Amino acid sequence: MEINRIKAFNNKMDSIIDKLLPDLEEIYKDIHRNPELSMQEVRTSKIAADYLTKYQFEVSTGIGVTGVVGILKNGEGPTVMLRADMDALPVTETTGLPYASTKVGRDEEGTEVGVSHVCGHDMHVTWLMGAAKLFSEHKEDWKGTLMAVFQPGEEVGRGAQSMIDDRMIDRFPKPDIILGQHVMVGEAGTVGHRSGAILSAGNSLKVKLFGRGAHGSQPQTSIDPVIMAAATTMRLQTIISREVAPIENAVLTIGALQAGTKENIIPEDATLKLNIRTFNDGVRDHILSAVKRICCAECRASDAPKDPEFTTLDSYPLTVNDAAATQKVAAAFDAQFGDNSHETQPASASEGFSVFGRNWKVPYVFWFVGGTDPKTYLDAKKNNRLNSIPSNHSPKFAPVIHPTLKTGLQAIMTAALAWFN
Ligand SMILES: [Zn+2]
Ligand SMILES: [Zn+2]
Repeated sequence: MEINRIKAFNNKMDSIIDKLLPDLEEIYKDIHRNPELSMQEVRTSKIAADYLTKYQFEVSTGIGVTGVVGILKNGEGPTVMLRADMDALPVTETTGLPYASTKVGRDEEGTEVGVSHVCGHDMHVTWLMGAAKLFSEHKEDWKGTLMAVFQPGEEVGRGAQSMIDDRMIDRFPKPDIILGQHVMVGEAGTVGHRSGAILSAGNSLKVKLFGRGAHGSQPQTSIDPVIMAAATTMRLQTIISREVAPIENAVLTIGALQAGTKENIIPEDATLKLNIRTFNDGVRDHILSAVKRICCAECRASDAPKDPEFTTLDSYPLTVNDAAATQKVAAAFDAQFGDNSHETQPASASEGFSVFGRNWKVPYVFWFVGGTDPKTYLDAKKNNRLNSIPSNHSPKFAPVIHPTLKTGLQAIMTAALAWFN
């Protein structure tokens, strides 16, 4: 790869990007103020599609509900797919920012919820829009086909698959490489890359435990699902501590535990909602089967009237960056960012991004862009308090716009240019 060509392009783009930043900041704040829940990204996808149309992309909309694909052909060369996810979360934002979201929406169960971009997908959309415009306006600097993909429903683990199921593979050119990025806690201005597993697999499930309701004063007539749920909760924690080898990394969190309505009524049933993160498919399979084994055994220990009911809530594959492709991206990042490009640790977060590469059978690279105010980050690091910085999905999560906006835009363009002729 010609690092000099990438350096020359980046030097040229630097002041061009600076001129574009005020417009992109407006776009970012507008999307931030108007977040949309997963698979409901109607407004956001229209903004992206209209922008791509304006900059001469061939645009297809409504793919897998609200997905957008823009194709920009510019002579002979590789096809590079850049992907951004568009959805927000059912969280009431408490950042206190002047452009904070005050929106409410309805989740899939019909409940009214606050909605906000506390995973930063608004930043991802803005980065990709900026890159689309700049590649379109500077066709003299690259040859190939640029494919800009705006994906719905990342937070529910279905959006990428819904686009694939909508015949994406038949309808669009096969990419040579798929690139994606995520804003994370980290010093703004920096990028973190990693070969191999960078994000965990994620599996969420709901377990309903069945008992027998009764008056709280007569426990002998009940089969108490509260006790069942409590015992199951404690016992499930032994999977990671006793059944997974210490050199493996895995997480099992019970994020919801629901039973009963009143102090003197023993309820009929109890529900647990579990989230599992793993970095190895064998470990994942073992944990999933151990969860079933323990839940069923605890129910039998209580003489439950029937076995528990298991429902899959979501399922994310591992994100495993291709080694050769990552090396190429890392070299380009080093040329662009110098010391601000570094190798990162894998994160126990999960992404639907790899679904595209897995289905198309092409290599993919995913990396992190720091979004934390540099001073805040470095102070926290010095005082060993990094865990106190609000992370993605916290109601207080919001990247600093500068320099995060510029860094992500430079990163996605730099990585793409490493492939284009
Ligand atoms: Zn998220
Ligand atoms: Zn995300």
